Amino acid sequence: MHETGHVFHFFDAFQHQNLIWNHHSPMEFAEVASMFMEPPGMPYWNQNGDGVYDEGDYRRAVVHRLTSIVTFLPYMAVVDKFQHWFYAAAPEAVSADDMDTKWAQLRDHFLPDINYSGLEVEKTTGWQRKSHIPDTPSYYIGYGPTQMGALQAWRNALVDQEQAVKKLSSPLAANYTSTLSELFQLTNVRFAFNAATVGELMTLVRNEMAKHL
Ligand SMILES: [Zn+2]
Repeated sequence: MHETGHVFHFFDAFQHQNLIWNHHSPMEFAEVASMFMEPPGMPYWNQNGDGVYDEGDYRRAVVHRLTSIVTFLPYMAVVDKFQHWFYAAAPEAVSADDMDTKWAQLRDHFLPDINYSGLEVEKTTGWQRKSHIPDTPSYYIGYGPTQMGALQAWRNALVDQEQAVKKLSSPLAANYTSTLSELFQLTNVRFAFNAATVGELMTLVRNEMAKHL
């Protein structure tokens, strides 16, 4: 569903933008369509929605997905802070052991409640499995505000899914013809990653999750 959101974003752009450099959006906006597609797709996962899950598996899958939205935010902070350290503060002769130590420290700081007993190697070497770290320095933080934008769009979809999808479609295609804040305005969501916005949207996630427990 996530990657399908990127596809819809590109198709909208191909239809509305003649210039190839406007087929892309600013990086901070790139994940709005994709992350938006994740929760509104959930009703189609169960057999009533032509999906594959029976009622029990469907509920478990929804709770798992919504839990991932919450735990993703501190994980995003681990990746972002690791990148800041790696690119700006780490010694030039930084070793893999240094990186293991740093990654483990950041996991302990941002995700203190996870019990890694017996999985110490997985805990310390997570940076090796994160392609964004070498590929796209400083990109990962963008998933935070865009997740907030996607959750606001989901809130609109919970009221009227068809309208929410329609309203999101052509404004997405504005891409580089608009500024970042204009793009968020066009898609009818706030560009914010402050305590009030995160708190409000985590309450939404918790309330929706409670319906499936
Ligand atoms: Zn994506």
